[in-house]
Amino acid sequence: MNYRSDTKYIHGGQQDSYHGSLSVPIFQTSTFSFPSGEEGEKRFAGEKEGYIYSRLSNPTVRVLEERIAAAEAGERGLAFASGMAAISAVLMRLTKAGDHILCTNGVYGCTYGLLQLLEEKYQITSSFCEMKTEDQLRQMIQPNTSCLFIETPINPTMTVIDLRMAAKVAHEQNIPVVVDNTFSSPYLQQPLAIGCDIVVHSATKYLCGHGDVVGGLVAGKEDFMINLALTVQKDVGGIMAPFDAWLLLRGMKTLPVRMDRHSKNAHKIVEKLKVHPAVKEVYYPADKDHPERAIVEKQMSQGGGIISFKIEGEKTAVMRVMNQLKLIQIAVSLGDAESLIQHPATMTHSLIPKEEREKMGIDDSLLRLSVGLEDWEDIWQDLQQALQILDSKS
Ligand SMILES: *Cc1c(COP(=O)(O)O)cnc(C)c1O
Repeated sequence: MNYRSDTKYIHGGQQDSYHGSLSVPIFQTSTFSFPSGEEGEKRFAGEKEGYIYSRLSNPTVRVLEERIAAAEAGERGLAFASGMAAISAVLMRLTKAGDHILCTNGVYGCTYGLLQLLEEKYQITSSFCEMKTEDQLRQMIQPNTSCLFIETPINPTMTVIDLRMAAKVAHEQNIPVVVDNTFSSPYLQQPLAIGCDIVVHSATKYLCGHGDVVGGLVAGKEDFMINLALTVQKDVGGIMAPFDAWLLLRGMKTLPVRMDRHSKNAHKIVEKLKVHPAVKEVYYPADKDHPERAIVEKQMSQGGGIISFKIEGEKTAVMRVMNQLKLIQIAVSLGDAESLIQHPATMTHSLIPKEEREKMGIDDSLLRLSVGLEDWEDIWQDLQQALQILDSKS
């Protein structure tokens, strides 16, 4: 059955009835016995379907993999132990020593760290591109560019990249486009449906939604995904545990309703922040003043739950504001029911050299807020009372 979008988050991938169990059972097993030696031989040879060993595949994890494939309009999905395990697996599969990776001007802090590691160990270089125009992209593509790695909206500045444009230019030279879709989730943005090749997720964030799992998911075309499964996933082995897959299956069921609420709450907070005297700038994809508003409208259905903003003052002021918060927790991660705030310059992006960081638009006055599912007026009240501290000296 080809279900409509919201139904896929609840039923996608589930085939067996498992004795009528409504929730997918947790197959907490490392290995699977074969009914005969011949059957074992056939499974190993790939001549017969069937489970062998949980690093290769596990029934609970498999349902989740098919669910992300359905949600992302991909042909196949794969699950990993973390978002970084998923990203590193994809980059390892796509690149070889001496290659080049072209990235957006701003990537998740640990993705940046991974790119440095790849350069150090395998001379795989990377460069950062604004990707605002086709020409800009064409100029930055090198003969050894093996993939484009795109985050959009970019963490934490909320800059948006035109995915159709990037895919068009990359495909002129047969270069695959990888998109880190963590910030939007498939409910707000589906890169594969608009021409990109591979989607990666930190499932830790919106897909889980409850802050109780670290996990990663990948979706893409059959050929690439099978290759990824039979090489990096199997032999490097950064796989997801069955219980984590079960928690993610549970979390994903409510993704559409959660994303609606996150987006609605964020809209309200953006309106308030924009007119607050202590706030210098507000960055939110669906804001009517967002510089790439036209692109946002073309490829995102709503703005999501992440807002970044700059306040009047430097690091000490930012710390004072954060310390004053009561409801909003100071924590990295995002996409949870709880509202979370963090300071990119000293937290998520602290390992990026200051100069590079500032080129990405991350200065000491920037805060990133993951708007939770609480009553938006409580979130605002908390922010407002914390911002008030800036009026007083000391
Ligand atoms: C959190 C995050 C990651 C890393 O995912 P983990 O699950 O923490 O390994 C990658 N990209 C983005 C955009 C993220 O927010």
